[in-house]
Amino acid sequence: MLTLITNAQVYAPSPLGLQSVLVSGGRIARVDETIELAGADLKVIDAEGRWLLPGFVDALTHPCGGGGEGGFGNRTGEISAAEFARAGVTCPIGALGTDSITRSLEVLYGCVMGLREQGIWAFMYTGAYRVPAPTLTGDIARDLTLVSPVIGVGEVAIADHRSAQPTAQELRRLAADSRLGGILSGKTGTVLVHVGDGPSRLGVLREALADSDLPAASFYPTHINRSDALLREAAQFAADGAWVDITASTTPELVAAGDIPALDALQRVLDAGAPADRVTISSDAGGSLPLFENGELRGLTAASPQSLLEVLQQAFVAAPEQLEAVIAALTANPAAALGLAGKGRVAAGADADILLLDPASSELTDVMCGGRWLLRGTELCD
Ligand code: ZN
Repeated sequence: MLTLITNAQVYAPSPLGLQSVLVSGGRIARVDETIELAGADLKVIDAEGRWLLPGFVDALTHPCGGGGEGGFGNRTGEISAAEFARAGVTCPIGALGTDSITRSLEVLYGCVMGLREQGIWAFMYTGAYRVPAPTLTGDIARDLTLVSPVIGVGEVAIADHRSAQPTAQELRRLAADSRLGGILSGKTGTVLVHVGDGPSRLGVLREALADSDLPAASFYPTHINRSDALLREAAQFAADGAWVDITASTTPELVAAGDIPALDALQRVLDAGAPADRVTISSDAGGSLPLFENGELRGLTAASPQSLLEVLQQAFVAAPEQLEAVIAALTANPAAALGLAGKGRVAAGADADILLLDPASSELTDVMCGGRWLLRGTELCD
């Protein structure tokens, strides 16, 4: 079965103008201004000028839930394949978080494989906030080598009162183990690092890299938009060769307390010298967010994968000059950071992970993952 999508404004993530995209066997076979084909097994879809983007690669999600920080009553729930599909996330990377006691990597693995069964091409990190890191097989390098969806370690917490206060040597060893497993299994073995609001910011990562043989990209700090000082430090970290990640989900109250909204943060980190291909945006979906009502803290709520789509929609309306950078930060850049070949691009040979958006309303209307439609005309497919 071949699918030919015609009359689409393609962002690959760079803008290519009006193109046709041919999908065959779960992959993009061709992207061209005109593709003339006929045949009984060809389905032609006229995109009618809609925008066609790669599916989002979400470098930090909690598909088996997160939270629990205010006690057992504050645990957040699992994220369904439908929630990811409706947000345009075709490739979420799952992580444990603060709680690796009542949640386990085995449960996370089950959620990731469940998402795959439902057509979302999910991956996962081994480890959690804590160091020494919990593992599936007893060893980080073995997890990466033997467990197919495990692509790195994360989210390991630093500069946070909830972290295990890891030393530079502990982080160096963690990255070395992950790198070894990655080398053996053809993965990057990246260590995704949760950076809290502590004053040490990225200090321990710099210390871990100094006098080591590890490349700068061994560590991939997230939540860099907590403050302007952290954002500036992250820009330098990216200029030195790492990838850095902005968190899209926030609340007006957190912004008032110093969080920088994703679109603003992206512009600021680029202005501060981060290379455009080294900055990513993730949702932290399933992570807990404080819930306020009339200015009163009422407990916790869960971050949503929709936050990524919202950043894109804000750029459509308020910052069209930033669109290309935003789309890259949601697609090609995280795919490169995590070594996910075939993800995050609209190009011949890439996986057919495709989003269609209505340019008038910026509504996400269609989602294809691996050549299979998950959303058609804003309706979920069976
Ligand atoms: Zn985090």
